[in-house]
Amino acid sequence: MIKEKTGIQELIDLDKKHFIHPTTAIEQQQADGPSFIFKEGKGIYLTDVKGRTVIDGMSSLWNVNIGHGQEELADVAREQMAKLAFTSNFATFSNEPAIRLAAKIASIAPGDLNAVFFTSGGSESNDTAFKLARHYWILKGQPNRQKIISRSKSYHGVAMGATSATGLKPFRDFTNSIAPDFCYVDGSSIEELRRVIEQEGPETVAAFIAEPIQGAGGVNLPPEGYFKEVREICHEYGILMVTDEVITGFGRTGTYFGIEHYGVVPDMMCFAKGVTSGYAQLGGVVLNDKLHKDFISLSKGTLLHGYTYSGHPMACAVALKNIEIIERENLMENSKRRGEELLAGFKKLQSEHPIIGDVRALGLIGGISIVKDKKTGEGFGTQLAPKLVAEAAKNGLICRSVTFDQDTLVFAPPLIITKTEVEKIIDILDKTFTAVEKEIL
Ligand code: PLP
Repeated sequence: MIKEKTGIQELIDLDKKHFIHPTTAIEQQQADGPSFIFKEGKGIYLTDVKGRTVIDGMSSLWNVNIGHGQEELADVAREQMAKLAFTSNFATFSNEPAIRLAAKIASIAPGDLNAVFFTSGGSESNDTAFKLARHYWILKGQPNRQKIISRSKSYHGVAMGATSATGLKPFRDFTNSIAPDFCYVDGSSIEELRRVIEQEGPETVAAFIAEPIQGAGGVNLPPEGYFKEVREICHEYGILMVTDEVITGFGRTGTYFGIEHYGVVPDMMCFAKGVTSGYAQLGGVVLNDKLHKDFISLSKGTLLHGYTYSGHPMACAVALKNIEIIERENLMENSKRRGEELLAGFKKLQSEHPIIGDVRALGLIGGISIVKDKKTGEGFGTQLAPKLVAEAAKNGLICRSVTFDQDTLVFAPPLIITKTEVEKIIDILDKTFTAVEKEIL
């Protein structure tokens, strides 16, 4: 039993004693306690229990697209909970928010992606795509098509299949017990994709999965023409193409979905995060017409895949309102414009700071590489990004470091950000780089 306690120190003590944090350095948590205990948010800002207000330069986990404290979403959640908080969607039961959201997503998804399977988040969505792909090939009389190919530096989540597909190896090494039939290719090489398919045997490959823009791997944009060639190769070998739009969906890159920038339509598309701007837990997979029709005509018996919360009425009602706000407030256009300003700001910083290498952004997702030598791109050996993240937080900006095989700062501010707020981010970064360079150079 926990005795009733009040005060910040007590929260810190309770956190250390009882709260196992996700994706957190446990030693650091035990030594220092939580770095911020947030208590409220408004727009792009978060405030903690000590009264510190910081810019949420990551939309928390790349997901709070419409910003914090949007009362309309709270109202919709309350109304839906009061009316019907939960009902099952198994065994042909249904509910109106789930039906309407599926139809809405079909109307905004590219091409003929028209049928939605709901989940509670990104990892579940990717696991669902892998299972549906494998089941599809069983139905099609090609049961040997089991393998899933993914890219180096990719991040697809932490469920067993999603971890197995994740190209960032430390996530796979965490348990040393990866699911079978996952293969990896260099994320920038079409030749390697073809080589791996040939080597594994195309008749054994179920699907290829890729994030249109890699997020957790360091905000890596695809090489020119990459996805067009991927699309062709998948057609050529009969492999299902799956895109993981968990970060890049719902306006993040200035379009509804990231893959729209590359002019191709996948066979399946996974989403989560921005679908509700994080106000409720929801994800899903959108299937194209062909897959959907084949499932309908070939399935016998029950589709044995479903989460308790697949099509959760409250989460779906929140998502519908969230999408309405994205459209009503022109947030995709804002993402595009503010993203251009953010990139221009990064370029200015690059010209002024000796440790800034490559900079990139598409809409409101961006990255800054930290280098010792701008010409060769050589790094410092030790990673500086975490130091910069800590300094930025002191200066009032939350951003994130990516240190797998690289030394990068990443950003994904809420899509409601203003021009002045983008300038504020750049000012804080300027101050942050100046302080760290003073210390290390
Ligand atoms: N896919 C991508 C591209 C992600 O960035 C993430 C999470 O960051 C996931 C999947 C996993 O989503 P979730 O954490 O909701 O399970």
